[in-house]
Amino acid sequence: MTYGFDTLQIHAGARPDPATGARQTPIYQTTAYVFRDADHAAALFNLQEVGYIYSRLTNPTVSVLQERVATLEGGAGAVCCSSGHAAQILALFPLMGPGCNVVVSTRLYGGSITQFSQTIRRFGWSAKFVDFDDLAAIEAAIDPGTRAIFCESIANPGGYITDLDAVAAISDKAGLPLIVDNTSATPYLCRPIEHGATLVVHSMTKYLTGNGTVTGGVVVDSGRFDWSASGKFPSLSEPESAYHGLKFHETFGPLAFTFHGIAIGLRDLGMTLNPQAAHYTLMGIETLSLRMARHVENAVRIATWLESHPAVEAVTYAGLPSSPWHDRMARICPKGAGGLFTVTLKGGYDACIRLVDRLELFSHVANLGDTRSLVIHSASTTHRQLTPEQQTAAGAAPNVVRFSIGIEDADDIIADLEQALAQIGI
Ligand SMILES: *Cc1c(COP(=O)(O)O)cnc(C)c1O
Repeated sequence: MTYGFDTLQIHAGARPDPATGARQTPIYQTTAYVFRDADHAAALFNLQEVGYIYSRLTNPTVSVLQERVATLEGGAGAVCCSSGHAAQILALFPLMGPGCNVVVSTRLYGGSITQFSQTIRRFGWSAKFVDFDDLAAIEAAIDPGTRAIFCESIANPGGYITDLDAVAAISDKAGLPLIVDNTSATPYLCRPIEHGATLVVHSMTKYLTGNGTVTGGVVVDSGRFDWSASGKFPSLSEPESAYHGLKFHETFGPLAFTFHGIAIGLRDLGMTLNPQAAHYTLMGIETLSLRMARHVENAVRIATWLESHPAVEAVTYAGLPSSPWHDRMARICPKGAGGLFTVTLKGGYDACIRLVDRLELFSHVANLGDTRSLVIHSASTTHRQLTPEQQTAAGAAPNVVRFSIGIEDADDIIADLEQALAQIGI
């Protein structure tokens, strides 16, 4: 029996608690788990038996969340971690080594651009930034040191949709895994694995939790990549000395990446999601489809209204027919282009700052995907560390504000924008 999305977002991974019958998934607030006996402990430590040892690696509340997100994304398995940025490191960690590179889209979340252009260099890794609408440029950027291709499905904040099928065709041909950050779309709007993604990463901080309470991340594995084919991924295909020469791919097949993520990634990098945070995210996911449908409905209405406002030069939202990426929506995310868009104001940088200060219902925060409407002037905040060229490429030029449209009454959101825009002049 296969259930629909609305059913799975409530039930996948969860079953009544075996000890108490508790219907809601308990928060297993424990660090460690009692072994049945010494043989049981040895089997767990050898990865011969699956079970709970210590909450840096696995925790029953977190496990339910892993199974739920993997199911909603159509993946074989998933590993949760402490934030979206942690998920990106956890995804790259088994693939990369000193001297290796990842080919990434220029249209990424600002923090990801910083992580990839600066911080990963400390590991001896590097990123090659390419315009992902230029397929020839992606192919040209791939070299013998490339270990992955990385992009966002719906790119935050530029109102951009990646042609995932076309990018997956390139990664397939090159024998490389395609990693897709699906944070802005969520599996309700886009399922990257169906378009050829190998791994899907999320900042669960955003729409999956949906209420601005916790940070979290997840890496979902499609289970479809042959890690042994090229010799490029020895962490997954070759003997692992920390586990008596066990080969993850040979032993765990489609779950190789997931087991490695827990047994090596979480064990040694320690970027673990705590059970409280997993609980908040599980609560959020129960209403994901309802929220996303409303985010989209409100975003379309408000973006349309803003597009005809005299103070507005342009609205960048793939949900509008005026967007150059609107046609891709039907193929990549047919239920809508999400709740994020950017607005270019005729009044430039100063008008953006004044707008942000005069809005009342909107909160001025560095977050997105909350039930409440949020606004930020990216160039002076999240994208501050970038050069003006990088800002513009990422859809965060100085005369642009980003909106994350909430699920309040659309009339109230429009009224707030109307009063604030009236105060800034044109
Ligand atoms: C927020 C965000 C991240 C980073 O996630 P954190 O949970 O803040 O670490 C990565 N990618 C996208 C698209 C995001 O919106």
